Amino acid sequence: MAIRTVLTYPDPFLREKAGPVTEFGPALDALVADMAETMWDEPGIGLAATQVGVPLQLFVYDLEVSRDPARVQVICNPVFKVMEGEETDEEGCLSVPGFTSEVSRAARVVVEARDRNGDPITLDVTGLHARVLQHESDHLNGILFIDRISPLKRGIFKRRHKKKALARSAL
Ligand SMILES: [Zn+2]
Repeated sequence: MAIRTVLTYPDPFLREKAGPVTEFGPALDALVADMAETMWDEPGIGLAATQVGVPLQLFVYDLEVSRDPARVQVICNPVFKVMEGEETDEEGCLSVPGFTSEVSRAARVVVEARDRNGDPITLDVTGLHARVLQHESDHLNGILFIDRISPLKRGIFKRRHKKKALARSAL
């Protein structure tokens, strides 16, 4: 197992659309193990393959931060069948370090996907679980949570990011 580098904004790879997972087996298991280690190391509660530079429709999450490999949830090729209601809550992202903002998401989602073995699964969830599925699935389509916040908040983020970038280039 190895900890991978998490790409951060404005890395252009974070804007790429991922392709479906078609091969399930040892290579995928190894990638999943690396992604789980990377997620816990940060620590975060979810991590998409695109965040570590792998263009696959795959993400892992662990809502309780159990750090238990047996409890890591693995989602491949998610498709949203139902998105209903609305809930606003604070969100952050390992690829957007040091910034959080309120984001409105569907309160309940039904997602069809494949598990790490390629078997079909259906999730019908609400709350934080639904939020994580939406946040991570966004990554697979090149979307970051800062794309879903108010223009005012996005302006604050961009100004702050520019200042940090300037500070770095001054070193
Ligand atoms: Zn994220």
